[in-house]
Amino acid sequence: MTKPRLLIVGAGPAGVSAALWARDRFDAVLIDRDERPGGQLLGIHFAPPDLAVSENRDGAALAGITARQLDRSGVATRFGCPAAALEPPAVAEAGSTFESGIEPLRTGGIPLARPRVRTGNGEALEADAVLIATGLRRRKLAVPGEDTFESRGVSTSASRDRRALAGRDVIVIGGGDGAYESALLLAEVGCRVLLVMRSRPRARRGFRARVAAEPSIELMPKTHVRALLGADRLSAVRLEGPHGTFDRECEALIVKIGAVPNTEWCAAAVRTDRDGFIRSDRRGRTSAARVWAAGDVARPALFAISVAESSGALAVQDAWLELGGTT
Ligand SMILES: Cc1cc2nc3c(=O)[nH]c(=O)nc-3n(C[C@H](O)[C@H](O)[C@H](O)COP(=O)(O)OP(=O)(O)OC[C@H]3O[C@@H](n4cnc5c(N)ncnc54)[C@H](O)[C@@H]3O)c2cc1C
Repeated sequence: MTKPRLLIVGAGPAGVSAALWARDRFDAVLIDRDERPGGQLLGIHFAPPDLAVSENRDGAALAGITARQLDRSGVATRFGCPAAALEPPAVAEAGSTFESGIEPLRTGGIPLARPRVRTGNGEALEADAVLIATGLRRRKLAVPGEDTFESRGVSTSASRDRRALAGRDVIVIGGGDGAYESALLLAEVGCRVLLVMRSRPRARRGFRARVAAEPSIELMPKTHVRALLGADRLSAVRLEGPHGTFDRECEALIVKIGAVPNTEWCAAAVRTDRDGFIRSDRRGRTSAARVWAAGDVARPALFAISVAESSGALAVQDAWLELGGTT
């Protein structure tokens, strides 16, 4: 019997877990825009302390494990293959039992029996079911100089870079837990830190108390970043706040202003919330028939490796049952 085709988009923990669960039941294909699997794991420069069944492995080592697991699984993989558009079935299929708690979008367009993903490489990949597992990326400041000074003074990770930054003048941008934690990590290694946020602090009380008690951290609320300045490397940041616009010298800038879901490519085809996360039910079903979502892209209650992995497994199981498989 021909196996149903499952197209998984995104090879982070959710997509890889889905691929491993799918291998015996589906003709599964996993695509990712990156050249290797791992997703956000590749940016974790410590051993996640809350991940069961693994200890003392940082994110790169965990990503390496996923690459070996995929190799052994026999699941077809395509890296360097970005999904550019999703075309869901535009008409209700006769006899379809598909239902989710999410109201369908009226997408119009060509009636398709199966969903289709168009890739940036110019292909159209059709499947019986599509699983979206495209995760998150860091939000950027979107100011002049940000791209120029990327890795030349601009960083998103204090935990990775703090040894190199020890004793320096560093500006941290953001008012949430990530920014506060970064400021504290840098203060621990002797940095003088300016913590800049555009409104008021949102970090948890414990972080706020520790920052308030740390003399080497200066707080600057209600202040916006306007530009990053320098010659070969970042040397100053242009800020605008209640006292006007001014340039503040620094040797590094850490940007911690949250994350955005990677859903631009599919947001016209499935319902998303106001921040762009995919709306799905507990089985991972989206507003579009035969399209599931798993991991961070579906705004889980907890953004965590274990949650992403389990949601990938659940979505595959539901897709399997939906397409007529038995447990
Ligand atoms: C610095 C940091 C520290 C963290 N620490 C922990 C921790 O200690 N414990 C913990 O449990 N979790 C931690 N996390 C969170 C954890 O890494 C995420 O919850 C998890 O990686 C989410 O997995 P995912 O598969 O949903 O998405 P992601 O890991 O974001 O993977 C998504 C994949 O989709 C691909 N993709 C995106 N768009 C497209 C497209 N258009 N076409 C094709 N492919 C695409 C990406 O290249 C990526 O490979 C941390 C995250 C970060 C960044």
